[in-house]
Amino acid sequence: MKKHQKKLLVALPLVAAMSLVGCKNMSVDDLTSLGMKGLKAATLSDNDVKELSKQSCAEMDAQSKIAPAKSAYTKRLNKIAKALGNNLDGTPINYKVYITKDVNAWAMANGCVRVYSGLMDMMTDNEIQGVLGHELGHVALGHSKKAIQVAYATEIARDAAAASSNAQIASLSKSSLGALASAVINSQFSQKQEQDADNYSFDFLVKKKINPAGLATAFDKLGGGDSSILSSHPSSSDRAKNIRKKIAELKK
Ligand SMILES: [Zn+2]
Repeated sequence: MKKHQKKLLVALPLVAAMSLVGCKNMSVDDLTSLGMKGLKAATLSDNDVKELSKQSCAEMDAQSKIAPAKSAYTKRLNKIAKALGNNLDGTPINYKVYITKDVNAWAMANGCVRVYSGLMDMMTDNEIQGVLGHELGHVALGHSKKAIQVAYATEIARDAAAASSNAQIASLSKSSLGALASAVINSQFSQKQEQDADNYSFDFLVKKKINPAGLATAFDKLGGGDSSILSSHPSSSDRAKNIRKKIAELKK
């Protein structure tokens, strides 16, 4: 491990929190059960975070049914991605569709963006752009980095072999890597983080000359269904209201 590498520390405990798509469910019990070993392990460089994200994304890809390049879903996502761009603050973005009825989408710190066909079925292209702007916001604002540090600390505390290793990033067992990937995808962000990611998405869409209205109507749709992908604080209607207020201000 390089001595002078910049380290990041995980802020614990995380505030009990809420989500949009792809942002939920790491329990406080998971966090409080971390031993000192876990806390120490949570000190990761930016490169470590990218490497763990890469491994987590590869593990998710291996577990999922990826839409073929020629499928209508992939063609549609490519069109959506073209408007969003293939680069986030210098990190190349890699977009793929998972074929599943689940309604979800997420982005990881290494630029891995995955959109579930279930979400694509219920949303317009513009709404998907709004959702992806939000997920990219979690990456750009460093929320995803924190989430993977927490998830890594949790998994390494459970994974005896990894915890006893001094490697720069201890190699996790396959089951731990799967758990890490799932914890990252289901990271629970704080209310402030969610709001900041919403606002990031709004600014991002405006900058890319994409209509930000889709972000508001995406919240309308997510709020209408069962709430498994969207917790209620802040409520989806409040979040849609926030975006509509910003759209109104934009027109002034
Ligand atoms: Zn979110």
